[in-house]
Amino acid sequence: MVKKILKLGNETLRKHCSTVTKFDLRLKLLLRDMADTMYDADGVGLAAPQIGILRRVIVIDTQEENGPGLIELINPVMIEQSGEQGGPEGCLSVPDRRGYVVRPEYVKVRAQNVRGDAFELEGHGLLARALCHEMDHLDGIIYVDKMDHEIFDFDRDDDKDGGAK
Ligand code: ZN
Repeated sequence: MVKKILKLGNETLRKHCSTVTKFDLRLKLLLRDMADTMYDADGVGLAAPQIGILRRVIVIDTQEENGPGLIELINPVMIEQSGEQGGPEGCLSVPDRRGYVVRPEYVKVRAQNVRGDAFELEGHGLLARALCHEMDHLDGIIYVDKMDHEIFDFDRDDDKDGGAK
């Protein structure tokens, strides 16, 4: 079910999310709602607090050709990161704005799946950026806190990379 996405200024987005301990039907339904909401808003990632649920759950789909498709991460933890990439970043909770944010080029994350099984996920480029962005949400951090500067439309010569997330 598509849920309402909370917007910047809502205090829930600034709270610390708690660890998921029950891998039950409720979690399954939350993951389904999050994917529905992300795809409906044409985003590449969504964190549970964005729909008002203070649990450490994120979904990502970079929608790249030959990409991994929908990724569900419960209790994700960053275990490795390297390199650097600077680029435009947006957020479904911050509509119609984008900022220039520097992120690691590569990250390795440990998380659990819907059944509670642990797995590791590596990401480069856009996936690394999305992982950092969504995991920040779990600690109440929004990209605007980290951006180097706001990107305005008149800064762009063309529209080939919307950068909307
Ligand atoms: Zn976001």
